[in-house]
Amino acid sequence: MINQRMYDLGAAPSAIRELFAYGMERKAMIGADKVFDFSIGNPSVPAPEAVRETILKLMDMDPVVLHGYTPASGAPQVRQTIADFIKREYGVPATPGQLYLTAGAAAGIAISLAAICNAGDQVIVPSPFFPEYRIWTEQIGCQLVEVPCLQPSFALDVPAIEAAINEHTSAIIINSPNNPVGSVYTRENLQELAAMLTRKEAELGRAIYIIADEPYRLLTYGADVPYIPCIYPRTIVCYSFSKCLSLPGERIGYIYVSDLMDNARETAIAVAGAGRALGYFCAPALFQYVLQACLELPADVEAYRINRELLTSGLRELGYEFVEPQGAFYLWVKALEPDAKAFSERAKKFELLLVPSDSFGCTGWVRVSYCVSRECIEGSMPAFAALKASYDAE
Ligand code: PLP
Repeated sequence: MINQRMYDLGAAPSAIRELFAYGMERKAMIGADKVFDFSIGNPSVPAPEAVRETILKLMDMDPVVLHGYTPASGAPQVRQTIADFIKREYGVPATPGQLYLTAGAAAGIAISLAAICNAGDQVIVPSPFFPEYRIWTEQIGCQLVEVPCLQPSFALDVPAIEAAINEHTSAIIINSPNNPVGSVYTRENLQELAAMLTRKEAELGRAIYIIADEPYRLLTYGADVPYIPCIYPRTIVCYSFSKCLSLPGERIGYIYVSDLMDNARETAIAVAGAGRALGYFCAPALFQYVLQACLELPADVEAYRINRELLTSGLRELGYEFVEPQGAFYLWVKALEPDAKAFSERAKKFELLLVPSDSFGCTGWVRVSYCVSRECIEGSMPAFAALKASYDAE
């Protein structure tokens, strides 16, 4: 007898994956340059040359060590390097015992949720949100509570988050720079959140964590991205090198349980326990060593900056409404009809693949992933124009 929930998850790919698969088929049919695939967040810039050079150097290492198991939480020297980096970069105390290397932010978030939640607990997420949060939360018998962001700014609605907190709340997931909106929460907004959470913790007599999901931290266009542990001590950072260093297939990232929280050690031990329970131990060893050498490499945001300019100026001229993106590589565009799924379906007729906002827990928008080639953006403009004209003609 199989597990029905697992069967259902396996049988129903996410709307993003479905659209991506449709795009692959369509490209095979009519040619890749005729399909404007904005469906998926796969980085379009290559990983830095230094990554390749590091891999080549690592090939001289004793293969038994290089390809062997590391300790479950990651190689001690790698965790030390990351802790030193966090101390230097953000000015907070950080120790290697509070770090747990993971297969990307996906594993990091699933582990963190399992570490701090008990069945029946609630996890708050500002919406729109990355859809896998729901799956990871429900998998451990907890409930995801969506709190819409303020519009039109898509800032955190702190009073609404406060109203959603109760004696079952154990965490709030904060993703900034944000997928799917491309927004970055301001320091003031995060400080307001932190002050409210501190008050609610005292009132309810229970710990409420922030899980800071940070795969896009370095992808910004001038915005300040505050380091949440500096603002709220009970923070668990889930970092990843998938987007900033263009290494999504290598599955490497880390969890950092802030040293500043009063239960820092117990939380880090629970993280290790959750990693063990979920089978997420000993992150890919080769890439642990790669990131030890490449940790401080900057992200190559230039290609995304150019795409962002091309896309926003083109769509603005055509009369589309969107949220001015401050980070990540997503543009959040208002659908030209209330039903975003119908809008996305119509866009397909013009070979434009746009993800409807229903996948992210809200109606009326589409996400345009602009981690694509420049030619794709330029080539898509007549299609966006024709899509708009089809609505104007009604
Ligand atoms: N969180 C967000 C907001 C994402 O957009 C993604 C991937 O797209 C992830 C987490 C998972 O990333 P990773 O490849 O690091 O597992």
